[in-house]
Amino acid sequence: MLLISCPNCGPRDETEFHYGGQAHIAYPENPNDLTDREWAEYLFYRENTKGTFAERWVHSTGCRQWFNMLRDTVSYEIHSIYAMGQPRPDLAKSTAAGTGTTPTSEPAQPGEFTQSGDFGQAGEPGLAPGAATTGATAPTSSEGV
Ligand SMILES: [Zn+2]
Repeated sequence: MLLISCPNCGPRDETEFHYGGQAHIAYPENPNDLTDREWAEYLFYRENTKGTFAERWVHSTGCRQWFNMLRDTVSYEIHSIYAMGQPRPDLAKSTAAGTGTTPTSEPAQPGEFTQSGDFGQAGEPGLAPGAATTGATAPTSSEGV
């Protein structure tokens, strides 16, 4: 069971949240220009990272706001929680010092806390460089338990 700190509500039980899949998947700038294969990869292909993974969560029984979380899929440690539209935090800085978690997300204004920020980022769908460990079978979802 995870204790998740909602940026708006504070620490709450995992059961109040729903998992929303991999974070930083940018909507294609010109979807009509994509091949079927590229479109399918945008829709369905996601990383299955063993280790630190950026994912989306929604506080579905609380404030119903979406946010991003940097979580270790092996240890379940939550490294960071940050607003939608913000870039993935650079973990190398905070963890190298061994200081642990730094949840620095500020509460967003009501109404501005939307997914649209992700769509403004052009380019490849949010594959973080360095997070190249794939192929593992670590569970990334807590749905349906
Ligand atoms: Zn909340």
